[in-house]
Amino acid sequence: MALAIAIAAQRARSLSPGGAACATVVGTACVAAGWDWGALLIAFFLASTLLSRLGRRVKEARTSAIVEKGGERDAIQVLANGGLFAAAAAAFVLHPSPVWQTIGAGALAASTSDTWATEIGTLGAATPRSILTWRPVPPGTSGGVTIAGTLGAVAGAVFLGGVAALFGWRAAPAVLGGLAGSTADSVLGAALQSRRQCPTCHLATERLVHTCGAPTIPTGGVAWLNNDSVNALSSAIGAAAGFWGGGTWTPR
Ligand SMILES: [Zn+2]
Repeated sequence: MALAIAIAAQRARSLSPGGAACATVVGTACVAAGWDWGALLIAFFLASTLLSRLGRRVKEARTSAIVEKGGERDAIQVLANGGLFAAAAAAFVLHPSPVWQTIGAGALAASTSDTWATEIGTLGAATPRSILTWRPVPPGTSGGVTIAGTLGAVAGAVFLGGVAALFGWRAAPAVLGGLAGSTADSVLGAALQSRRQCPTCHLATERLVHTCGAPTIPTGGVAWLNNDSVNALSSAIGAAAGFWGGGTWTPR
């Protein structure tokens, strides 16, 4: 089933071939843990794909000069977004305990919340502001926030928490993980993520090669910390928040 979904996603051009291979591994780990794990992953993936289709042309026109990658998810992106969830699923297979559900749902909610924030935020016409300096930044800049994007982040976290609740998981750790993860994503994106500039156009970008064809130069942040590393870190923070929420708010 996981393979069939990955092939369908690749046909629909939401996954690159490497991304589809990775998604199959991630999906298989989830299905082995139970159909509820698989359903959560599918809910995340379907909602993200639908949201990225929504107004795709408008969003690409707004952000293509800034963002590093386009619509297809490659292997690294799949792992950054679903890797921890799959690891929690594998741990659940070995040692079934609701604690893995709070960790997994927290991690996946972080990815959901961040994806929804980006997709809904870039759909709105508002100029983002840096979450740290509050200065206006170009649409697509990591760490840039808008009201629409923030509402999207909350909606994404609540969505994943709601789907989790449908399958009898606790919703609160998931929602908490989502909010913590997407906030961390913005803060890390603004503070640490590698920043680059096109020497020809003098425009800020995350691309290694600018849309004009010129190689870009680093201007700040941690050089090796790209958008995928920030996503993976944020997913880990979401997992930790889910774990903390699961232990704090509910009786064992
Ligand atoms: Zn350029």
